[in-house]
Amino acid sequence: MIRLCQRPGASCGACCGLYNSRDHGREAVRAELTRRTLVLRRTEPTLPAFRAAAARLAAGGPAPLFPSVRVCPLLGFLDAAETRIGCLAHPLVTGGPDLRDAGVYDVTICESFLCPSHAWLSEEEAALTELATADFHLYGLVVTDVPFLRAALGAVAALTGARVERRHLTRPAFREALTRLLALKEELEPGSEGLFGAFKPGLGGDEVPRRIDYQAIDRERSPWDEILTCVGADPHSGNDLDLMEEEVRRRLDACAAAFTPLLVRRE
Ligand code: SF4
Ligand code: SF4
Repeated sequence: MIRLCQRPGASCGACCGLYNSRDHGREAVRAELTRRTLVLRRTEPTLPAFRAAAARLAAGGPAPLFPSVRVCPLLGFLDAAETRIGCLAHPLVTGGPDLRDAGVYDVTICESFLCPSHAWLSEEEAALTELATADFHLYGLVVTDVPFLRAALGAVAALTGARVERRHLTRPAFREALTRLLALKEELEPGSEGLFGAFKPGLGGDEVPRRIDYQAIDRERSPWDEILTCVGADPHSGNDLDLMEEEVRRRLDACAAAFTPLLVRRE
């Protein structure tokens, strides 16, 4: 079984509610994680103290975008440099007691839950994501959106004629170009829900599949429909479809341009 939550170069907290707020941009997410971390670092590592702190943190946190998806106030930064996120109630972090019962689930659920990406992604795809994102914000957005990742890697492969492999990311120019392509997930218009992948919040807060209705806007289906759908580039999402399509094209071209010299060198 591959491990996705804590990898040497990246960490994720999506299932703890990391992105479930109206402003899920990098700085807003960072600010909320910092707020929690500062409080929990000063909290006595006992269940009653963590429960009280969790209640205060939850009351002072941003409202969830998907009300049916829980947001755990015990997710925070694991390091002083704020590069790695994780559960601040985990025994490896508290130094002994397991305080995850103070969160929005309980120890059993937290310990056993693995998101569907664990079953779908190969180790190669996970490693590519880790290398290309390596970050507390972007990694979780991409590793939990398998259709987006595969569509992006597939589009690069279609342009270059070669499957993207780990060794290609040793070339900084290509790695940076691929990071820029994947970073489409975190550069959407404010208020857009595209970062949740090919889903949008329904009336009851449930996830509803998203699709771009080309007929309604009198347009041909984009050759990058899957990427555009995953980033929410439909006219109702708050994003401009034409601008997003151009951006996808530009970033793919940059990947192809940075990839080619590597192919030439191998011949
Ligand atoms: S969303 Fe998946 S990869 Fe991310 S922390 Fe949860 S189980 Fe791990
Ligand atoms: S207690 Fe559970 S839900 Fe909360 S941050 Fe820890 S692992 Fe995530």
